[in-house]
Amino acid sequence: MQVNLLPALSDNYIFLLHEPKQNLAAVVDPADAQLVLRCLAKLGAELVAIFNTHHHMDHVGGNRQLISHFPKIRVYGGMEDRGRIPGQEVFLQEGDKVEFAGRVGEVLFVPGHTKGHIAYYFPPVEPGEAGELFCGDTLFAGGCGRLFEGTPTQMLNSLSKLSALPDHTRVWCAHEYTLKNLQFALTVNASNPDLQTRYAEVEKARDRREATIPSLLGVEKRTNPFLRWEDPSLQSAVNAKDPVQTFSRLRGMRDRF
Ligand code: ZN
Ligand code: FE
Repeated sequence: MQVNLLPALSDNYIFLLHEPKQNLAAVVDPADAQLVLRCLAKLGAELVAIFNTHHHMDHVGGNRQLISHFPKIRVYGGMEDRGRIPGQEVFLQEGDKVEFAGRVGEVLFVPGHTKGHIAYYFPPVEPGEAGELFCGDTLFAGGCGRLFEGTPTQMLNSLSKLSALPDHTRVWCAHEYTLKNLQFALTVNASNPDLQTRYAEVEKARDRREATIPSLLGVEKRTNPFLRWEDPSLQSAVNAKDPVQTFSRLRGMRDRF
C-alpha cells in the first residue's frame, strides 16, 4: 500500500492510499475532491473507500463530490459521528476492522478533539515494515488537536492508546502544524536534546517547503510534550501535580501560544 500525501486548503493533508496491483485507491479525510480526482487520474486508479476520522469540514468537504464520481464507493466514519459525515454508511467503533485492497485496518476510538473521533491503524504485513496510523486531528507531529468536544482526560486516554503502538509506526496526521508545535514544545521542554535536534530538522524542512508528515511514533514519544505528561521535568515546568493536570495545562498554554 502506497500513501500519497496531498496538501490541501491552507495546512491540511489528504492521504490517498493506493494498491498498484489491483489499481485501487482509498482516501483518508478528503478535504478537497478536485485534488483527489486529479491524483486518481494520474495513477489511473479507482476510488473504493473514503475513511473519515471525524466530521469537521476540512476532513469531509470532498465527500459528496467523490461519491457522485464513484457511486459504488463506501464511506466510513465513527459511530458517534452518525449524521455528521456526508454519505457515511459504515459506522465504526473501537476494535472494528476495515479492509482495503487486501490490507486490514484497525479502528481506534480516540475522542477528545471531537466526541466521535476515530483513527485507522494498518499494522505491518511483513516483519520489519512500518505500520501506518491515520490519526486525523488527535495526535499531531509535535502536538495534539484542540479539545473542541472532549475533556482533557478523554484526550489523554486517546493519546495513550496511540502511543501504545510500535515506535516505528508512521504517523499520518492531518495538518502541517509541526514547526509551531515544536516552537511551543521548546518553551516547556527546552532541555530535551531530542526535541532540539528535531526542531532544527523541521525548521530546515519547512524552509525547503517540505512536508514534515509522516513522523515516527518513537520520535513523538521522545519529543512531543502531549505524549510526555509523565515526564517530571515537564510536570514541574507547568506547575502540575499529576499527568491529567500536566496535559490540560499544556493544552491551555498551546491554545494561547
Ligand atoms: Zn478537526
Ligand atoms: Fe482539521
